[in-house]
Amino acid sequence: MQVVFSESHRLHDPTAQVEAGHRIPMQETPSRAEQIISSLAQDARFEIVEPKTFGRAPIDSVHEPAMVSYIEHAHAEWSAASGFDIAIPDVFFHPALRAGMEPIADAESPLGRLGYWCFETTTPIVAGTYTAARSAVDSALTATDTVLGGASNAYALCRPPGHHAATSVFGGYCFFNNAAIAAQHAVAKGAERVAVLDVDYHHGNGTEQIFYERPDVFYASLHGDPARAYPYFLGFADETGTGRGNGRNLNIPLEAGCENDMYLSELTRALDAIDSYNPEVLFVSLGLDIFGGDPLGDLAITTDGIGRIGAAIRARSMPTVILQEGGYAVSELGNNAHAFLDKFVSLSS
Ligand SMILES: [Zn+2]
Repeated sequence: MQVVFSESHRLHDPTAQVEAGHRIPMQETPSRAEQIISSLAQDARFEIVEPKTFGRAPIDSVHEPAMVSYIEHAHAEWSAASGFDIAIPDVFFHPALRAGMEPIADAESPLGRLGYWCFETTTPIVAGTYTAARSAVDSALTATDTVLGGASNAYALCRPPGHHAATSVFGGYCFFNNAAIAAQHAVAKGAERVAVLDVDYHHGNGTEQIFYERPDVFYASLHGDPARAYPYFLGFADETGTGRGNGRNLNIPLEAGCENDMYLSELTRALDAIDSYNPEVLFVSLGLDIFGGDPLGDLAITTDGIGRIGAAIRARSMPTVILQEGGYAVSELGNNAHAFLDKFVSLSS
């Protein structure tokens, strides 16, 4: 199985994030990817390759180009204006500020611009962030081309992750939506129907928003109920798509403490819906923060359960591109990623 991985992820290494108003150590760290790649490197069935370079066009086809340009220059602009090295916003463009008034397209002050394009405080930007985020997109697109070229599956070890990044706002450790860009790439290359299955603990609000009106991309997500879990404002069961995308969005909120059997039962529901849609390619947003020991989740999925999830997805025999999203129980990440991916090599012909 091809594993696409870029060392450039290390360039995104902020030392701190702000959570609940407090400065704490960054949770989305380079060590996450290093745990996963060192685990896979010990298994000869995984072939680790560098991503190809795709340029900006695939990113601009999903995100507002002004946001992409902003992220490219955000660190230099913000650090010059603020005097700090880690860019974290503290004033946000809440839509109620201009309720009943004409919208604005950006802010002028560098300090205002960060809060215009970013929606929260856990997504710091450092000097290497843009390069790292571009490398994660390139990894996702390389794995996608491998599957479009005939391989039954491929895995991109994307870091930073992507599924919280929406068309014109980023956050949640995410800058560019790797899964959405990869799905759009498949559509641009001729796929008439693709599906994104998001098994990260957190709802993939960005992916949902990007494709909410689209009939050609089915999005299904299992996640902690937004009544208690980040991102709080999206991920409810009654969000089913709109317009031509009506019926193409499936949210399955889960209760705290959800164990393997319950998860697998709900996963079957999502996979049945995807099967009915009959996509040409399946993208899996693989978040390993569903694991019971994860500091950012509250489900009770075991490593064995993560393997069963992989087997259940593989059993549907769809061409599958697997993209890394979250997972913060760092010492277990290698085992958990391997448990999932093992099913795609051991069950593939
Ligand atoms: Zn997550």
